[in-house]
Amino acid sequence: MFPKIMNDENFYNKDVTREEWQQGLSQDDHHRSGIRFARRVRLPRIFGLAAMFFPIAGALVAQAPPGGWWLLLVGWAFVWPHLAWQLAYRAADPRVSEMNNLKADAIVAGVWIGLTGVNVLPTAALIILIGMNTMGAGGIRLFTAGAIMTTIAALVTLQLTGVSPGFTLTPLELWLALPVMVLYPLFFAWVSYQTAIRLAEHKRRLELMSTRDGMTGVFNRRHWEILLRNEYDTCRRAHREAAILIIDIDHFKSINDTWGHDVGDEAIIAVTRQLQLTLRAGDMIGRFGGDEFAVIMSGTPAESAIAAMSRVHERLAVLTLPCAPQVRLRISVGVAPLTEEFCHYREWLKAADVALYKAKNAGRNRTEVAA
Ligand code: GH3
Ligand code: MG
Repeated sequence: MFPKIMNDENFYNKDVTREEWQQGLSQDDHHRSGIRFARRVRLPRIFGLAAMFFPIAGALVAQAPPGGWWLLLVGWAFVWPHLAWQLAYRAADPRVSEMNNLKADAIVAGVWIGLTGVNVLPTAALIILIGMNTMGAGGIRLFTAGAIMTTIAALVTLQLTGVSPGFTLTPLELWLALPVMVLYPLFFAWVSYQTAIRLAEHKRRLELMSTRDGMTGVFNRRHWEILLRNEYDTCRRAHREAAILIIDIDHFKSINDTWGHDVGDEAIIAVTRQLQLTLRAGDMIGRFGGDEFAVIMSGTPAESAIAAMSRVHERLAVLTLPCAPQVRLRISVGVAPLTEEFCHYREWLKAADVALYKAKNAGRNRTEVAA
């Protein structure tokens, strides 16, 4: 069988399945995302369990259980959240470890519900707290598993300790449970909001990375071609003028060979800046890779595109690179106005490419228009 050639088309358009994508993620990424997950649960657990100490302690006073239960309560409310974080942080798979921590939370919550004789408000507060944590971390599935574990743990505790469910409520228990019932959802919402903001910022950065050329900041080839396709469709529909330009630095290899790649990179960035400074804000500049650029000029006839490029030629003629003042930067440009004869945007692009080679063959440092 012939190997599949990885050209631009199938590279960008291949249908990456979820499984392929997950396989592609390195172990390191998986570990880091697990730690981020455990970190998101950490603060709500520290805050929530510490706040739960008071209503549970208030309800336990009436039951007067042996001292060991008090020790367990103090440990659960104030030590366990930190221990849980350490366990997840040091685990080979932090996500799995944190899932187990959440299940442990659910089980211990059931123990307190049983031990307090299903005291109404501490029970409601525990259900809110554990429910929000499990739903927020693992959706319906973890929430259901947590709810089942809490119920079983509560029933087993009632059975083993002989505490009879009282469903009692005293004013003290009310005042001890109310703060956590009011404040915990607010706190959880704040943590979720912070996470949403971080995710939005992350998404924005990913979008930027996927559409921009890393070195120059202008559009990368893939995104530029998407813009070109849109422009082609819109202009054809609206019978609007547009021109595209392909720009290539002349004898760029000799700049690289004589001055090194760093100076070559600086030259690429300098040409980009001159294009950005000279062209209109609405002109869409892309880098095709290497020393080749492309521009979409919407609503622009070929003459205006040529005029704009002659300004770029003039600016480059007097431009010097700080690290290599002797270098003369020159560019060749191929311009293709949109015409009715192009049946596909790639034909439009091809016409600009042909015009560029016409400029190269005619001696470089010039702009040529597609015939
Ligand atoms: P011509 O006038 O015909 O365009 O000649 P040229 O020497 O400019 O030839 P060409 O456009 O084919 O040269 C492109 C070179 O750009 C080849 C490659 O070594 C170099 N190159 C590609 N990407 C980069 C880059 O990111 N940085 C640097 N410094 N060089 C690059
Ligand atoms: Mg070149």
